[in-house]
Amino acid sequence: MNSFEKVDVIVVGSGNAASCAALSAREKGLNVVMLDAAPREARGGNTAYAGGQMRVAFEGIGDLLKVIGDLTDEEIRNTDFGTYSAADFLDDMGRVTEYRCNPELVEYAIRNSLDTLIWMRSKGVRFQASFGRQAFRVDGKFKFWGGLPCEVWGGGAGLIEALHARAERDGIPIFYDTPVVSLLRNNDRVTGVRILHRAQMLEVQAKAVVLACGGFEANAEMRARYLGRNWELAKVRGTRYNTGQGLRMALEVGARSFGHWSCAHSSCWDLNAPEFGDLVVRGGYQKHSYPLGIMVNARGERFVDEGADFQTLTYAKYGREILAQPGLFAWQVFDQRAVPLLRESYRIRQVTRVQAPGLEELAAKLDGVDGERFLRTVEEFNNAVSGRGDSFNPSLKDGCGTIGLRIPKSNWARRIERAPFEAYAVTAGITFTFGGIKINTRAEAEDYGDVPIPGLFVAGEMVGGLFYHNYPSGTGLTCGAVFGRTAGRSAAVFARSFGG
Ligand SMILES: Cc1cc2nc3c(=O)[nH]c(=O)nc-3n(C[C@H](O)[C@H](O)[C@H](O)COP(=O)(O)OP(=O)(O)OC[C@H]3O[C@@H](n4cnc5c(N)ncnc54)[C@H](O)[C@@H]3O)c2cc1C
Repeated sequence: MNSFEKVDVIVVGSGNAASCAALSAREKGLNVVMLDAAPREARGGNTAYAGGQMRVAFEGIGDLLKVIGDLTDEEIRNTDFGTYSAADFLDDMGRVTEYRCNPELVEYAIRNSLDTLIWMRSKGVRFQASFGRQAFRVDGKFKFWGGLPCEVWGGGAGLIEALHARAERDGIPIFYDTPVVSLLRNNDRVTGVRILHRAQMLEVQAKAVVLACGGFEANAEMRARYLGRNWELAKVRGTRYNTGQGLRMALEVGARSFGHWSCAHSSCWDLNAPEFGDLVVRGGYQKHSYPLGIMVNARGERFVDEGADFQTLTYAKYGREILAQPGLFAWQVFDQRAVPLLRESYRIRQVTRVQAPGLEELAAKLDGVDGERFLRTVEEFNNAVSGRGDSFNPSLKDGCGTIGLRIPKSNWARRIERAPFEAYAVTAGITFTFGGIKINTRAEAEDYGDVPIPGLFVAGEMVGGLFYHNYPSGTGLTCGAVFGRTAGRSAAVFARSFGG
């Protein structure tokens, strides 16, 4: 096991946060290894499943051009990218987390978001403008909405490809099928890890350890324990390897638990998707176009405001709402005006869809739903749509809402009347858990006295205090990259103090 002999920094995981940590520690000239519980073909954790959108604070096209290299002159001329200031980003984080997110950590992440994307680009990550997902054509010009113009070329898989290629070039070995089972700690500091490698339990010494090995979303027992009833029945949108082991081992050496442990990111996911993510279909099972229609439960009733806000600011909490419905499922219903606007994921082969020429025929096809009540729900909904439906505009909160319903639809409400109709069956897909470890802005893990645990750094989904109740899309990869890069840099500085 020669490769483990002269390790300065051990990075646990091989996803976005771990890869950024490893590259940034290596940049400082340290010997770094990455250890992943997964086999090589499942490398990259949840990152490999991600759509690849990254939320970033930017002041205009000038900033975006530093990240997205290859926009054509025509694209620049015909697109309104808008701006998304640090204040806008902070505002969204505050609002969706009900003002509970840790301001120090969140401000740090936002302040470093643009610079970190530029750094990632310097490491070989390619970004493109998110035309397909975040822009609508209005009066002949593409208009971006929701502050999300950047996505990684090739999505999360492309991100892993690029970061791992750079790790290989920089001489960072990645050991797969190598779960870390615990941390080694003496009186002074964390001194390494205990691993299971080729059926052998080994101890690997290092000067610093970065834990970036995900939350507990793939662990049914922990989901039931921390998130509550029925969470063990949720589908897992991503990797099966994020089982909360990193959190457990950090807590075992005295790290402080932090953040919203009873909450998670979960969204509308095809009812018949497999138990864990599928690296071919990836995000294809997600069904995020509900603002264009209505969602009904087994009773045939609506249960959320589908147009409460941009989908990017509501989707991560609606999985939880579905899990609270009888039978843990819902149907999303659309008419022909909405159908052309549905996202690509509604057109995949592996979709649970029914179509019908009329609402009554549709009602009969909605498995598990009280059809009569469903028809009354649609009628009540249609009667409640205000005349403003004519100014429907999906690129802004158009205020086309319902009037007088107990559960309103606040924007994008249009009568469901143009045949044929389509409906899609969904359940809750869990993405990642919000509870984590307390870190500071150097990504040092802190103990219950807010004192850093020497030699232990944490990044990615394992960081607590960023998300409460809800999540603005594209923030996971950005925060993971910012704190991953920071963790690598801090681990390198710490290791250097031991002559590394
Ligand atoms: C379908 C889907 C779409 C998404 N889309 C987006 C998006 O567009 N934008 C966005 O910002 N976020 C998105 N996310 C969320 C985002 O991808 C993740 O939150 C983020 O990638 C997590 O990165 P990470 O590095 O913390 O963890 P991961 O990428 O999950 O990596 C964790 C790694 O740790 C390893 N590991 C776990 N336990 C151990 C152990 N004991 N020992 C060794 N290794 C271990 C795992 O095998 C894995 O490789 C999406 C997630 C999913 C599932």
